[in-house]
Amino acid sequence: MTENDLPATGLGRRSLLGAALGVGALALASCTTEPQLPVASSSGPAPGPSASSTPQPLGRQAAIDRFASRPAGDFGLEVTGVQLGLPDGARGAALTFDACGGGKGNGYDGELLDTLRRHRAPATLFLNQRWARANPTLVTELAADPLFEIANHGSTHQPLASRGQSAYGIPGTGSIAEAYDEVMENQRYLAGEFGIQARFFRCGTAHMDELCAQLTRALGLVPMNFTVNLDAGATFPAGTVATQVRSMGAGDVGIGHFNQPDGHTGEGMAAGLPRLLESLQEQELALLRLSDVRKA
Ligand SMILES: [Zn+2]
Repeated sequence: MTENDLPATGLGRRSLLGAALGVGALALASCTTEPQLPVASSSGPAPGPSASSTPQPLGRQAAIDRFASRPAGDFGLEVTGVQLGLPDGARGAALTFDACGGGKGNGYDGELLDTLRRHRAPATLFLNQRWARANPTLVTELAADPLFEIANHGSTHQPLASRGQSAYGIPGTGSIAEAYDEVMENQRYLAGEFGIQARFFRCGTAHMDELCAQLTRALGLVPMNFTVNLDAGATFPAGTVATQVRSMGAGDVGIGHFNQPDGHTGEGMAAGLPRLLESLQEQELALLRLSDVRKA
């Protein structure tokens, strides 16, 4: 469990699959995903436009001075300060896909991206620096496509922790200094190499502590997780991916992966996306990129 987030027991909150697979009730206990969209987690500063004025980010030493002596707070997928779904009143749902990078994580799921383009389905793509360095031509192509918003998935794909807390056996960053680097090295790389000003951040494994959520916001980024797990780290079979996609509704943010072409995410999206689009249309809702929310 090093190359992708969210192992196979992860399930979206709306799904009946939890009962079917016998893991739903244990989803959180097993470090996976059944986030409940608590008010405290979703009522922080609004995403996108709030960060769009690109204020000068906090410097490294200033971040250490401000945060290093503060308590870490809770660590997990849905801690206070991390946004899970879209803000209240959002007229749609959002698909997000991560590219985690690393030894077995530098692939590209062309079937998935082709499906999104064929259906004109907007999505937000979270890029880890390792993946971006391995796929610079693809990054340029994706950044140039208005269908997609590019976001920051960290530099080394570690949990964002102020005290080294771990998730799935993966140690998190060990200090505010390391957490700062995990966010900002990739942020600066994407900006410097590709002209991308990412507004949203999701760390490797999607686990962070409350203090690091505050740090991320002080750096001008919205810490963004999800409400529906589409592929459990690209491990779900296609039918499960399709069911998860179809389960999405207003305000939901789905997470999948587009760096594992040998998985079934692309096939499942192709099967489930048309029904999701129909369902949203019936409700006069739309698929949105994360930064589109204020425009909806
Ligand atoms: Zn990842």
